[in-house]
Amino acid sequence: MRGKLVAGNWKMNGGLASNRALLDALLPAVAGLDGVGCVVCAPYPYLAQVQGLLQGSNLAWGAQDVCQFDNGAYTGEVSAAMLIDFGCRYAIVGHSERRALFGDTDDVVAAKYQAACRAGLTPILCLGETLVERESGVTEAVVARQLDAVVKVVGMTGLAKGVVAYEPVWAIGTGRTATPEQAQAVHAFVRGCVAASDRVAAGQVPILYGGSVKAANAEQLFAMPDVDGGLIGGAALNAVEFSAICRSAAEAAR
Ligand code: PEP
Repeated sequence: MRGKLVAGNWKMNGGLASNRALLDALLPAVAGLDGVGCVVCAPYPYLAQVQGLLQGSNLAWGAQDVCQFDNGAYTGEVSAAMLIDFGCRYAIVGHSERRALFGDTDDVVAAKYQAACRAGLTPILCLGETLVERESGVTEAVVARQLDAVVKVVGMTGLAKGVVAYEPVWAIGTGRTATPEQAQAVHAFVRGCVAASDRVAAGQVPILYGGSVKAANAEQLFAMPDVDGGLIGGAALNAVEFSAICRSAAEAAR
């Protein structure tokens, strides 16, 4: 059975002092939680600090992106092997902010997913529709296209090595969370797409929900059968909120 997973995406926030304060508060609050994996995805420059503070704990860490190339003349980029050097287990790929603001196309996202797997990282693949797309009734077509681009490159067995995060763009950072039923419908659709060609992979791949998850709505979202946890933005910067979300996931896993 799949366990629950809660990953925090700090985005471009934090600093040496505030990261330490956040993790000092978070570590005792999530220690001993069963049935849930807890992860923080920090900005690149802080990965060494996070590694130093979290080594040996039950909090894993990861990056918010990864380069699709393994090494070479790619100024400003960070490779999957470099992330491994700093103890990262996870790398987010295809976050909607990267797709919208930094030109990450479906093909680039697929190549990043593949590069992460190649190095032994677990990619967290973000999928999701904009508000215009939802209102035009093309949510399923959009997430299927984003998923297919990755499956075309790594196959279903490759997909089963990662994590999928359904993040409706209209819910990210807006305070407008998808209802548990809206989330479940898309999660079931995604799982069905995988099951159509690989039932084993469909049973293995965790599908997280992301978009204005907070302590107050986590329990209802995590109670949905195809919601395997959350990708958390704003609330991941607050130890009380983030640890309460992790606790809700642990309770849902019981
Ligand atoms: C995110 O950035 O992945 C996210 C889900 O943000 P928020 O929780 O703030 O909506």
